Amino acid sequence: MTASWIDELGGRLAELGEASLLRRRRVVVPETGARLTVDGQSMLAFCSNDYLGLAGDPALRAAAHAAIDAYGIGSGASPMVSGHSAANAALEDELAAFVQLPKALYFYAGFATNASIVPALVGPGDAMFSDELNHASLIDGMRLSKARIQRYEHADLGRLEAQLATSTAPRKLVLTDAVFSMDGDVADVPGLQALCEKYDALLLIDDAHGFGVLGPQGRGVLAAAGLTGANASRRVIYMATLSKALGVAGAFVAGDAVVIEWLLQKTRSYTFATAAPALLAEAARAGLREVAQPQGDARRAALQARIAQLRDGLDPTRHPEIAAVGWQLLKSDTAIQPLIIGDNAASLQLMDALREAGLWVPAIRPPTVPAGTARLRIALSAAHTEADVALLVDTLRRLAAASLPG
Ligand SMILES: *Cc1c(COP(=O)(O)O)cnc(C)c1O
Repeated sequence: MTASWIDELGGRLAELGEASLLRRRRVVVPETGARLTVDGQSMLAFCSNDYLGLAGDPALRAAAHAAIDAYGIGSGASPMVSGHSAANAALEDELAAFVQLPKALYFYAGFATNASIVPALVGPGDAMFSDELNHASLIDGMRLSKARIQRYEHADLGRLEAQLATSTAPRKLVLTDAVFSMDGDVADVPGLQALCEKYDALLLIDDAHGFGVLGPQGRGVLAAAGLTGANASRRVIYMATLSKALGVAGAFVAGDAVVIEWLLQKTRSYTFATAAPALLAEAARAGLREVAQPQGDARRAALQARIAQLRDGLDPTRHPEIAAVGWQLLKSDTAIQPLIIGDNAASLQLMDALREAGLWVPAIRPPTVPAGTARLRIALSAAHTEADVALLVDTLRRLAAASLPG
């Protein structure tokens, strides 16, 4: 039995290979800026969520080094069993203050946070309302909860309202990405919050890609909408990762003090996971200082300039070769700039051609994105220079021209 089962797995792996669906990891070594050595070759990367270029920042490195000297490496056990460090405790207070919400709880990983806070909030008999493009971690959290899942078409608040209006569930939870990770568009947070007020639902917002980037001083999607501080709603639960714009690892959930205390008591990935190491908490605190200070504004301004440069450089109304080949940037104001190619094989070929030119841009195919919308997911960063983006744009235009007949 065991042998045939494992043989069957081997056969399925071979099938994935034949369908060009096997995923391969590359071994990377950071160079400077957005350059990496990838399997020995120097490449300019447009695949990282390090939107502000903080992942290698000297201030974060120094904070981590100092924390190693003060705390060592591992944290020992669950915070419920062996406590958490002064660094972790301070980080929670600073995160809550930064996003202007009453309380925050610091988790060791973003995926595990979403997968386990949802089942802590809702259970059998309750209902969840989920944007169809939500992140896999929210989807897994919903599945684990055993509450009823109602998906609504992407960003379709009319559809969501119809579902909320007809739901008889005692507890309703609306879940949304703030910035959709494969599309780059931003959820209508005020509209979602208004619907949750009207139909007495809680709203869980995953701001993995907005925290540090959106809103004044990068305080996130809620601050951008003016829905924090005195204007914060008790029914909004804010989640963000520290692994993207902040350049570290881990995540947090912030919101009403009672809700956060409940999550502290009932979230299994908090209770049954070893506390995040203090070295990460100290690096995150240093990242938070970088994000909030004036140099954070400079980093966000640099990112915005690169976004404008890319969109300009691939604008089909200005560049006939882009219009002719039919590649289309989705409408996005964020660091996530998806270039829709459509066909799976064509997007892989384009990724390979870019790689030969020393540019690393990931092709994203179904089932991660809907069939027929295979794309290059171009991720921009303050770490990119103007010359970096110019090289990408020029190479794409050259490849577009070369792929046209005649
Ligand atoms: C990356 C991501 C996560 C998971 O966070 P990690 O810190 O990588 O575990 C959760 N939600 C969204 C929308 C993400 O993009």
